[in-house]
Amino acid sequence: MINSATKSTKLSQSVAVFSKNYLPMNQINIRRAIILLVTGKAEPLDLGDDTKAISIHSPTMVFLIPQHIRLTVNHKERTWRIPTVNRREILRRDKHTCQYCGNTKHLTIDHVIPTSKGGQQVWDNVVTACERCNNQKSDRSPQQAGMTLRIKPKAPIHPIVAFAGQFWREHKIQREGINN
Ligand SMILES: [Zn+2]
Repeated sequence: MINSATKSTKLSQSVAVFSKNYLPMNQINIRRAIILLVTGKAEPLDLGDDTKAISIHSPTMVFLIPQHIRLTVNHKERTWRIPTVNRREILRRDKHTCQYCGNTKHLTIDHVIPTSKGGQQVWDNVVTACERCNNQKSDRSPQQAGMTLRIKPKAPIHPIVAFAGQFWREHKIQREGINN
């Protein structure tokens, strides 16, 4: 008998979904993974080095959920465009984190080259900054203010491309961990 705490932790774990063509696409929760597997829209995918399945017990059955599944149907690709530059999208791109100090509270939008100095409202000139950093930087460039950006700002990339990149980076780290 699994207590409900263990069960809910397990259900909050996630599964990586691959396209029919074996491209990592996104991360979904166990509930969605079960639905895809039960309805035959996905099958387990064994990447060869981590076959650890997550077991979910219902009163009558035990589901073994693999860590990776592959869609057996073609998914419909939704049209994706680079989002327009606005506060919500900037915060999302920067993961709600000040790009100068890492603070996650009292966030504002900073123009790297201030608009008063000709800076544009474009993806590579806007970053999330906390109030303190924004005030400290004031009407100056980061160099003039002696401040350093953690990451050079750029336009968001397609979410599937972003996920694929992150997936293989993490997977490489895991493999290296196994070899060492
Ligand atoms: Zn800050």
